[in-house]
This record gives sequence, C-alpha cells and structure tokens, in this order.
Amino acid sequence: MTRTPSIDADRLLGRIRALGQIGRDASGALTRLAGSEADKAARDTLVGWMTDAGLTVQVDAVGNVFGCWPTGPIGLRASTVAGRPAAAPGADDAPIMLGSHIDTVVNAGIYDGAYGVLAGLEVIESLRDAGVSPAHPLVVAAFTNEEGVRYTPDMMGSLVHAGGLPVREALAAADSEGVTLGEALARIGYAGSFMPGTIRPRAYLELHIEQGPILEHAGDQIGAVENLQGISWQRITIAGEANHAGTTPMHMRRDAGAAAARVITFLRDYAHASQGVTVATVGTLRFEPDAINIIPARATLTADLRDRDNARLQAAESALAAFLDTLAADARVDITTERLVRFDPVTFDATLVTLIDAAARALNLRARRMTSGAGHDAQMLARICPAAMIFVPSQAGISHSPREHTSDTDLLAGARVLLHVTSRLAGV
Ligand SMILES: [Zn+2]
Repeated sequence: MTRTPSIDADRLLGRIRALGQIGRDASGALTRLAGSEADKAARDTLVGWMTDAGLTVQVDAVGNVFGCWPTGPIGLRASTVAGRPAAAPGADDAPIMLGSHIDTVVNAGIYDGAYGVLAGLEVIESLRDAGVSPAHPLVVAAFTNEEGVRYTPDMMGSLVHAGGLPVREALAAADSEGVTLGEALARIGYAGSFMPGTIRPRAYLELHIEQGPILEHAGDQIGAVENLQGISWQRITIAGEANHAGTTPMHMRRDAGAAAARVITFLRDYAHASQGVTVATVGTLRFEPDAINIIPARATLTADLRDRDNARLQAAESALAAFLDTLAADARVDITTERLVRFDPVTFDATLVTLIDAAARALNLRARRMTSGAGHDAQMLARICPAAMIFVPSQAGISHSPREHTSDTDLLAGARVLLHVTSRLAGV
C-alpha cells in the first residue's frame, strides 16, 4: 500500500543537529576540513544513516559518497570502461541525484552543505516509507572538498565528477603540510574504488541555505535558483618606490599605496554604477615595507569580480585592465596582474527551475527566482546534466560562521519542495 510521502521533521532536524556536533574542538568551534578525522567521523555517521535507510553506498576514487535507492549499485558495470558513464541522461537507469557536501570551513555553521545532503537522504527515505516505486533510481551524493579550505580548487569532488579535473590531479593536491588529498582519503578510509563520473544523473537538485540576505529581506521562503554568478579573481601587484614620508614632495612620489587605494575606489564606483549587477571586492591588501613613515614601494591586492552575465563580467575585467593602464602612467608605478580563478556564470535548467517555483507555490510557500551569489556543487553537475538549486533563507544573511542560522520552519519548507520536485521527476 502506498501513501502520500511526507518529510519526517524530527528525523531531518535531528540529523542536522547531530551532524553539526561532529568536528567540534575544545572551544566548541565546528571545523570539518576535507579528508580530516572530523570529516571521517561525519562520513561514517552519514554512511551509517544511508545503510540503515537501506541505500547501497558507493565511494568513488576522489571520495565522493553516493547512497543509491532502490538498492543495487548504479553504473558499476560500466566503470570497467574507464571513465565512460554507465547511463547517459535520458537512459532508464540514469538516476535523479540529490546532493551537496558535508565538509565545512573553519569555525563553521551547521547548515552549509549538510542540509542539502541530509534533506536528500530524507526525501529518499520518505518516498521509501510511503511504499512508492520511483520510475528512476534515486541517489543522494556528498561531494568531497566543496569548501576548498584544505585543498584547492574548491568544489573539487563535483568538478572531478563532471570531468572538469582529472582524478590524478585532484588526488595530488597537497595541503599546507604537504599531505595530498589521496593520502588523506586513504588514511580515513574513503579512497573509493570506482571511477568518478560513473553515475551520470538524469537530473541534479541541490537544496542549500542562501548564505545571503535576499530571501529574508524580501520575506520569501524559497529561492528557485535560475543562475549562478561567474567569478573572476586576480592578484594585482603595484610597484612604486620607497622613500622618506617627510622629505619627498608629493609630486615626486611613486606611491604604490595611494595607487592601490585608487584601485579600491575604482572597483567600488564601477560596481555601484552597474546598479548592483556586478559586485566587486578588494579583500586583501599588503604594503611593503609597511611602515608609518615610508612611502610604500609595493602594494599587493586582490580583486574579486562577480556577475551572472559573462559579457558583463568580461566588461568589468576589461574596465579594470584599462583603469590599471591609466593608473600606471598617472601614478608612475608598474602594475602586473595574475589571474587566480575564473569560473563562467552558470544558467540552471529552466524546466527544473519552473518545477521548483511551481512546487513552492503548490505548497503555499512564498517563492522567488534568484541568482546564487556563491559557488556550489550544482554548477559542476550542470556541465553534465540538467541541474538546479533550491535556497532557503539565511538569518541576517550570515554564513561561514557559527552564527549561521535557518529556522526549522524554513528548513522543513525547503525539504518539502525538494520532495515535491523529486516526486514529479520520479513519476511518483
Ligand atoms: Zn555549501
């Protein structure tokens, strides 16, 4: 007998809190860096819950964890053909994947990532409890090293899964102590045996806290995320000339510090003039020799530019480059730039976004379409299958902090939307 699937509030909220206790230090701060002992403890707990729920657990070579239902490994047979996906999108056994990550930043909150993984597991369990048989398999995924604190790049597990980074390179990434991800995963027992990317989903859904203030500010409960900002990071080095702060006339200076300040105000003005569609941040700035009475000889700063439109992001990069040329001549300094990160903006699958929007409205929740300001695993999965995200409000827009908070009501509302959309996709 089947009945209408429903989210078990106590089970979901209890697990979010329980996982949030794993990886706390003596002072109570939560830190679960990828491949750490805390990561192992959290993975073990998650795998225990997946197994108890009757899911088949598979771990791939980069440590991504997949819980599959109905039971039985998905795509394992084809993994003997190196890297070839078992099931292309549209094939009958291609699963619907729900996922996120359970690694954290240093001194983190309990919701970032963990919420999406545990809600994915809850959706599968609620369908199973209701006695329904989905038309397609369901998979809940926890991707390795999304935060990128210990190993670069961030979103690593999902990037490897999507074929954007060779497994070998990911495993060779070293932390500040020289420990590679491959060594760390072997140490904690999560160096899996099958080829990343073997499980090729027909659709990917990621439920996540917004990590920004937009939903709360608008009084909305659900964000149907239709795109994700592109990111451009560069390091700017300005070389001037150190000299005496008292004896050097202003017009004879080659002041790297004053030039750096002009870069900061240029970017702020540029972003303001864009009406907020482009955001720009100088988050680091270092002077040399860094003394109160010496004109800075050198300034090193970073620029973080983001926009949901690639042409506008390129325009911002070009405008900055042109400004730096003018500034170099005007301030008599030498300026060099180095590109650190560049991810194009991502447009999520329109059909999935519409389903999310419609599900929220069917559940009488206030929803809005929106852009993700942060990077997420979903942007990597979007390279290989239709993907979209569901956001819930972050209190005061705070994230990557112990003050990160989302109300139980909003957490459950997000899980219900995920269940609703998954049920539609699974023909339930
Ligand atoms: Zn996250």
